[in-house]
Amino acid sequence: MIKRLAAVAILVSIAGCERHSVTAHSRWPVMGTVAAVSCADPTADMEQLRQTADEIYRDSISRFSAWTDGSELAKINASGTNGVAVSEEMAKLVEISIHYSRTSGGAFSPLVSPLLRLWGFGWKATPPDAPPDDETVRKLAATARWENLSLNRPALTLRLARPDAKLDLGGIAKGYAVDKVWERFRDIGVTNALVDLGGNLRCLGEAAPGRGGWRTAVRDPLSPASGYILGTFLLRPGEAVATSGNYERFVTIAGKRYAHIIDPRTGRPAEGVLSCTVIANTAVAADALSTTLFVLGPNDGNEYLRKHAPDCAALWVTESDEQILSDNFQARNWQPAQVR
Ligand code: ADP
Ligand code: MG
Repeated sequence: MIKRLAAVAILVSIAGCERHSVTAHSRWPVMGTVAAVSCADPTADMEQLRQTADEIYRDSISRFSAWTDGSELAKINASGTNGVAVSEEMAKLVEISIHYSRTSGGAFSPLVSPLLRLWGFGWKATPPDAPPDDETVRKLAATARWENLSLNRPALTLRLARPDAKLDLGGIAKGYAVDKVWERFRDIGVTNALVDLGGNLRCLGEAAPGRGGWRTAVRDPLSPASGYILGTFLLRPGEAVATSGNYERFVTIAGKRYAHIIDPRTGRPAEGVLSCTVIANTAVAADALSTTLFVLGPNDGNEYLRKHAPDCAALWVTESDEQILSDNFQARNWQPAQVR
C-alpha cells in the first residue's frame, strides 16, 4: 500500500546527520555541482581519493557532457544522420538509457535535448518570452523517441535517425560516473566511504561499525537552501540514492516556473512533482529512475517499480505537498524528521 504523509519541513542540518560518524571529508566543484567523498576511516588519504574521483569525473565530462565543446556527445550530435564510431563507455550508457526509455513508455529519454532547448534549458539556451506553441512542441516531442537512436554492435557505431534528434545524457551521466568512482574505490581497497556527486550518492560499507550503512537525509524540496529535511533513511552497504527536483534548475516563462525535467511524451516540462528520491543498487539506476519516476509521478511510478524495478524504493513530494512512499521505502528504516 502507498503510504501518504503530510509533508512537514523540520529543521535538522543534513551535515549534522552525518557529522558524528564521518571522520574525513573532501568537497570540490565539478560538473556545475559539488562532488564530495566522505570516509569513516580517519587515516584515509583524502587528497588521493579526491584526485582519483576527480579524474573519473573529468573523463566522464569529456564523453557525456552536453555543456562541453568537443565532448564525444557533442561529436555525435554534430554527426547528423551519418552515424559515428563511439566508445564502449558511450555505447553502454546509451544502452542503459534506452532500457529506461523503453520500459517507461518514453518518460525517460536520452534524446530530450531539442525539447530542453525549446523550453530554454541547456548550454547557451535562453528561455522564450512565451511558452512555445502546440505544433512546435508536438514536432520536437517526436525527436525524443528512443527509436530515433540506433546503436550498432559489435561495430560500435551510433546513428541518429533524424537530423533534428540530439542526445542529452544529463538525467543519467552523473549516476554512471558515481558508479565508476565507487568501483575504483572498491578495487583499491576503500572499505567505508560515501561518494556524492550533486546528490547522486553511493556508499561502501558503513559510516561507523554496527551502523548497518549510512543514515542519509532527504532534503525538503520546498526549502532546499535552508537545510530543512523530510526525514532520514538507512543507505545499506553498496546502495545508491539520487534525487530529481524542480528546485535547483528551472526557468520562468511569462511569469510561470518550469522544471528542467521534461515529459518527452508531451514535450512539456513535467508537472505535479516537486522531487523524487530513488534508492537502488547502483547509482546509474538511482539517477535514471529518479528522473523517470519524477516524470511518471507516484501512481504510474509505483506501477513501474512493481513491474521493472521491484528492488528499488522511491519517495515523491508532490506539488500539493504530499509525501508518497513506495511500498518498500518504509522498510529502509525511514524516519520522518522530528522537531528538536
Ligand atoms: P539533476 O541533474 O538535477 O541531478 P536529474 O538527474 O533528474 O537531475 O537530471 C535532470 C537532467 O536530465 C536535465 O537537466 C536534462 O539534462 C535531463 N532530462 C530532462 N528531462 C529528461 C527526461 N525526461 N529523460 C531523460 N533525461 C531528462
Ligand atoms: Mg536523474
